[in-house]
Amino acid sequence: MADTLQYPPGCAYIDGRYVPMAEAKISVLDWGLLRSDATYDVVHVWKGRFFRLDAHVARFRAGIGKLRMQLSMSDGKLTGVLAECVRRSGLDDAYVEMILTRGVSPTFSRDPRDAVNTFIAFAVPLGSVANDEQMARGLDLHISNVQRIAPESVDPTVKNYHWLDLVAGLYAAYDSGAENVILVDAAGRISEGPGFNVFAVTGGRVTTPDRGVLEGITRRTALELLAEMGVEARAAPLGVAELKAADEAFITSTAGGIMPIGRIDVDPIGAGAPGPLTRRLTDLYWAKHVDPAWSVAVADLPAGGPS
Ligand SMILES: *Cc1c(COP(=O)(O)O)cnc(C)c1O
Repeated sequence: MADTLQYPPGCAYIDGRYVPMAEAKISVLDWGLLRSDATYDVVHVWKGRFFRLDAHVARFRAGIGKLRMQLSMSDGKLTGVLAECVRRSGLDDAYVEMILTRGVSPTFSRDPRDAVNTFIAFAVPLGSVANDEQMARGLDLHISNVQRIAPESVDPTVKNYHWLDLVAGLYAAYDSGAENVILVDAAGRISEGPGFNVFAVTGGRVTTPDRGVLEGITRRTALELLAEMGVEARAAPLGVAELKAADEAFITSTAGGIMPIGRIDVDPIGAGAPGPLTRRLTDLYWAKHVDPAWSVAVADLPAGGPS
């Protein structure tokens, strides 16, 4: 069985050791598996440089605090471990994930306070929500009537693995012939998709949903870069009709950056091709990846920071 499973190249850090991806395994009694009780973050490395590493680490720490979990490692040790995973993977472009699960309770008790939190990290090849062809023509998306989990139920600002709604939406999208999905909220407004935020450009003004979504680092980056470009951009409620009537629309994720929407439920968005503002924003986003104010070289982060 084991040799029929395929693993991507890469390197993981688990139980305090660096191992190939095939050896990175958790207990079946881990609450991360049994209850989806975990938080995580994903940062990317492009041409040997982490992009906005500090922001990802800060969001990870905030999520850990909100879930009342504990990570004893210092930020220096944490970023050192992430860098060492990348170095050992040999990758120049990497998808780097850090995870804290509730862990295993030694007595299998039902009290989350008894579990010993488990830290895992790994670096694998950098993937994207949109492939090259989709980047050139714009993604074909479906708006599902599956509702995103309410923010009153699960705090969406804690990056989490509660994805059954998103996965149900993906199947609905595939059934309709689309490539990916956007979920709505209880009021029928736009929320987000599987691992990405949504933006609409109307009359030169840019809107992204203000609540019920993970506050993406790429979403924040897009808002900041639009301000730098002198474009009015805001987080505010976004209706389905408003998105479908937009001049341009795009999605944002650490896995792929700024990615154009070409069609929603068959109807073209704007000209049905990546719009001029989306293209300018995409160019500026990638230009920031070599700017030391926004990125840090993997080689500049020592593995063995203080624990
Ligand atoms: C990670 C994620 C995003 C995008 O966040 P980035 O920090 O830009 O990668 C959006 N929505 C959900 C549900 C996510 O998990």
